[in-house]
Amino acid sequence: MDRVIIGGGFSALSLLIKERFAVKVITPRLPAYSSNQFKINKFLSSNSSSLAKYLINNKNIMLHERTILGGHSAIWGGFINISDINPNIINKFHNYGIDFIPLSFKKTGSVSNLQEIAQIQFNDEILNSSKIIKPDIDKLVTRIEIKKDFLKIYYADNTFDTSKKIHLCVGVVQLIEIFINSGWIKEGDSISMEEYKSKFTFNMFETEFDPNAPCVIRYGFFRAINHAIGLQRKTMRDVPFMFVNQNFYAQKNKVVLRFNQGSFIGAIGNSFGKSIHYCNLQINDKKVNEFMSELSKNVKIHGAASISQSFPGPISNDIVNNIWQ
Ligand SMILES: Cc1cc2nc3c(=O)[nH]c(=O)nc-3n(C[C@H](O)[C@H](O)[C@H](O)COP(=O)(O)OP(=O)(O)OC[C@H]3O[C@@H](n4cnc5c(N)ncnc54)[C@H](O)[C@@H]3O)c2cc1C
Repeated sequence: MDRVIIGGGFSALSLLIKERFAVKVITPRLPAYSSNQFKINKFLSSNSSSLAKYLINNKNIMLHERTILGGHSAIWGGFINISDINPNIINKFHNYGIDFIPLSFKKTGSVSNLQEIAQIQFNDEILNSSKIIKPDIDKLVTRIEIKKDFLKIYYADNTFDTSKKIHLCVGVVQLIEIFINSGWIKEGDSISMEEYKSKFTFNMFETEFDPNAPCVIRYGFFRAINHAIGLQRKTMRDVPFMFVNQNFYAQKNKVVLRFNQGSFIGAIGNSFGKSIHYCNLQINDKKVNEFMSELSKNVKIHGAASISQSFPGPISNDIVNNIWQ
């Protein structure tokens, strides 16, 4: 193969749209085996597991993965900040039936203090990448070997393929797993990640938005419950006086961990990962793509690990802009 995308979630879909679906996709439709660490499911979502073998020895750090077609995009809120997305890019999504719907209690069951927050929808539901991506190779990648003129991609069933170029769109947790298995993260290496602080609040009556939060997403009460159980479309009229706010603040949390005998260790006081928008993976103080390019110029990382969020709130806009840059 000349070029492949590994992953089947939102970043893989964005890249496929940019490339007009002319790149092969390697990703498992269903999870093959499981561990419970990092697992995240919702009552109505397809059941997925985490497949990462490493541990994080700190209960304050909550990372998540869904190693199944669609990944987190099967359970996410679909929110995006379109303020700095080029309209031509929005049009490219539109050509595949994907629309960026302005928030309103009527259409999305949610509003924001920012006009520019929209919800990404496909067929009147929150976009789930699994409804569009069709994997060419239905396998889980375990590791990558860098050869002089090509890359060797190993699968969980002990077979392999080769490709000249790889786009890794696997989410933060699996990216770390592939890096460990490939020998790129070694004993004693450090990793770091960051996120904007965030907090959920419950409100009776439609109070002012928190003036200290640059971005607030407000859900009608039933929409919030439906989001929590994984119902990905608006179904019923909401109660007009009960709301859940997701407040995103300008301050950042950062976590630094060291790899030691199969585990990441590090002390942090506050919890990390609550925003679910943790990003900017650095290895030994180098941004992950900078670190990668020193090993091979032919492996490119996309998705949250590869970006530092530009503004509190949704992260999907940074993922999209990074892919089109
Ligand atoms: C509950 C929840 C709500 C969220 N809401 C929002 C929101 O409203 N707005 C927002 O911007 N962000 C939101 N997020 C974050 C959101 O998940 C990301 O923005 C988006 O899904 C990231 O895309 P991704 O492609 O990096 O990861 P994912 O969408 O998770 O996709 C990763 C893909 O890679 C595949 N994969 C993993 N490992 C391998 C492997 N080894 N080999 C092959 N394939 C592999 C997985 O199976 C999956 O298909 C939310 C997250 C959660 C959990």
